[in-house]
Amino acid sequence: MAPPRNREFAGNKSYLPSKPCAVCGRTMTWRRAWAKTWDAVRYCSERCRRNRGAVGAAGAARDD
Ligand SMILES: [Zn+2]
Repeated sequence: MAPPRNREFAGNKSYLPSKPCAVCGRTMTWRRAWAKTWDAVRYCSERCRRNRGAVGAAGAARDD
């Protein structure tokens, strides 16, 4: 048996892409809900989405 080629796994159903959240850095694993927007997804959660830009600007956009 030939060794598997790891470089071209795209298309394999068992392979899920992942990338770090732009806010917290946590690794996000591809979700079916993101199938159409994966390239645009930058935050792991709604909370991080709200916190975008908050890094380094804490207190600049308080809601209370
Ligand atoms: Zn996050």
